[in-house]
Amino acid sequence: MIREIVTDEEILSKPCETATAEDAAIADDLVETLLASDEAMCLAANQIGETRRVIAYLNDAGRPQVMYNPRIAQKLKPYTAVEACLSREEPTAVTRYDWVRVSYEVLADGKLIERKKKLEGNAAQAVQHMIDHCEGILV
Ligand SMILES: [Zn+2]
Repeated sequence: MIREIVTDEEILSKPCETATAEDAAIADDLVETLLASDEAMCLAANQIGETRRVIAYLNDAGRPQVMYNPRIAQKLKPYTAVEACLSREEPTAVTRYDWVRVSYEVLADGKLIERKKKLEGNAAQAVQHMIDHCEGILV
């Protein structure tokens, strides 16, 4: 189901709860909403009103990737990025890392299993922005 993008700062500034395998429907809606948007290249679950640690982003091939409970395990090459957010009006300058190793979970056979991935450039930036959303941090 395509959902509306949340701009309510009270919802967006709350740290999200740990996601479980029961949150598969949220992940599905997140991907559907992401694919339906002309502007978004990533979305966090709280941006569709679900305060769970689930994110989705488009990889370099334009395919949606879902991560449950993502966290940055390692980060290198800091730089200052000016980021826009679908849930905010003004772009803001933030410190990002051009290379990150992310620990996260994926849903397989009804269970969450642990994965790790190295990301660079746009995908790394998108995932850092999304992890901030999970923490209730807005750029
Ligand atoms: Zn955002």
